[in-house]
Amino acid sequence: MKFSFSLKQKNNKARRGEIKTAHGKIQTPAFMPVGTAGTVKALKNQDILASGAEIILGNVYHLMLRPGADLIEKMGGLHGFMGYNGPILTDSGGFQVMSLAKISKISDLGVEFSSHIDGSKHFLTPQKSIAIQHQLNSDITMIFDECVAHPATYEQAKKAMLRSNNWALQCKEAFIDRPGFALFGIMQGSTFSDLREQSAKNLLDIGFDGYALGGLAVGEGQEEMLKVLDYAVDFLPENKPRYLMGVGKPTDIILAVARGVDMFDCVIPTRSGRTGQAFTSGGVVNIRNSKYKGSTAKLDENCSCDACVYHTLGYLQHLVKANEILGAMLLSQHNIFYYQKLMKDIRQSIENDSFEFLLQKVLSQFDTTK
Ligand SMILES: [Zn+2]
Repeated sequence: MKFSFSLKQKNNKARRGEIKTAHGKIQTPAFMPVGTAGTVKALKNQDILASGAEIILGNVYHLMLRPGADLIEKMGGLHGFMGYNGPILTDSGGFQVMSLAKISKISDLGVEFSSHIDGSKHFLTPQKSIAIQHQLNSDITMIFDECVAHPATYEQAKKAMLRSNNWALQCKEAFIDRPGFALFGIMQGSTFSDLREQSAKNLLDIGFDGYALGGLAVGEGQEEMLKVLDYAVDFLPENKPRYLMGVGKPTDIILAVARGVDMFDCVIPTRSGRTGQAFTSGGVVNIRNSKYKGSTAKLDENCSCDACVYHTLGYLQHLVKANEILGAMLLSQHNIFYYQKLMKDIRQSIENDSFEFLLQKVLSQFDTTK
């Protein structure tokens, strides 16, 4: 099967599409649960599939350090290793190297860093990142890029963008193309429109199967992010998938869909699940709140996850307060179900020409001023 993206329908800028990969199809707009170290934390593969998720994400940085790409390759790539046969996207390690590791040197060749696990020294280059993603057998490989922190000066953002574009070309040359597999470019340029435009132009000249917006969700806030999306998404081609990396909360996602984004990933649903926070059709629920003590109500009447079908809010609160593993499992599962239901509703609303109505509904559900 050839990797492809087909745009089925549009509602203003919001897009309804389908991606085909070697391991299956993905309906877009899509949310990808993050399986950092070969596991979407606290979720079994069956839970991920039952939620309706059609693609998950893995991290080069974590997997190269533990258990190592050679071992995963020997065990059938990330699909065989995890026992998960759906599409997998891996990020290149660039973002984690910058945010987690102790960096000793960044040069035009790559990044020298010490592992956050054991302090061991590593050198990650564009070529090495692509080779590792090949060993993992990722359906969608991401280029290795330099993501600047926020806020960045114009000069810092320009330097990182130019270096990333240079690395993008090296990644394209290093990528071994196979049917159904794809390589995505990543636009940088921080919050500067001319840098975003130049980055997109350079990536388009190289040519990728899809394009990501990098360097957002790094602390700039929703308003600033949306300002960038207002213009930056339009620099990308209509006929390729557009992926907003590391985003976000439900309102971030639907507002980005309104600006033409097709794919998302974020740790928020699983991380929040582990800290007792749930996203529901009634808004955010902080399960530790004393008002839920002994409550026989359901967490979300509109949800079909195990937490909502089999348990009460009062029981879920007990699990979270007692630090029981099951509490983290059930709430993580619930949040992933909520996110997938949201994506399904978004897709249907684009098909039915009711996207604007859904957008207003979701914004009002999560209105923190109410
Ligand atoms: Zn639920």
